[in-house]
Amino acid sequence: MAWRPAVVGGVAALLFVRQVYLTIRKKRAESDQNEDEVDYNFLTAAAKEAEVAMRKEEGGPFGAVIVRNGEIVAQAHNEVLKQKDPTAHAEILAIQKACKKLGKIELSDCVIYSSCEPCPMSFAAMYLARLPRLVYGAQAEAAHDLGFDSSHIADAIRGTSQFQKTNCIVKRIVHPEVCKVFWKNRTKVRIY
Ligand SMILES: [Zn+2]
Repeated sequence: MAWRPAVVGGVAALLFVRQVYLTIRKKRAESDQNEDEVDYNFLTAAAKEAEVAMRKEEGGPFGAVIVRNGEIVAQAHNEVLKQKDPTAHAEILAIQKACKKLGKIELSDCVIYSSCEPCPMSFAAMYLARLPRLVYGAQAEAAHDLGFDSSHIADAIRGTSQFQKTNCIVKRIVHPEVCKVFWKNRTKVRIY
């Protein structure tokens, strides 16, 4: 019968298309999973920086890491007390180090990981540095609970602000290391 090859061909084509679709879907799920894992690991590095700030009594429990092509290009922790500089926030210091190291003033090919949701000053620095993505651990309220009273920019970061929205992709991870550094140091922290 003449129609048979056509039907067989049609079914084969459908099966092929289905297989391609399933492969793409699987690859996408894998890459999402990989991204979560990668984000988690770099956030661990930011949490470790936060721990260093507390251990050395150099500042509050805040750390930041800047990553480019899967590699850390700069990491820093809060040094407000050490430098006697109220602007020496982890994110600011990390941005300064990354720009110096890469020899440029924009970090559009980088991702920043911060142990805590950034304050308005640090977020402005990220904006100026054209950082396209931010991953953070603790919410601004956690820093507020410790006694750090910087009126946060959470509304803008969370996209609930009335006027200007940010183009920066922001992701939050509930991270045990970040929770630990906040909880463990809750009575030791020096407010500035
Ligand atoms: Zn800040």
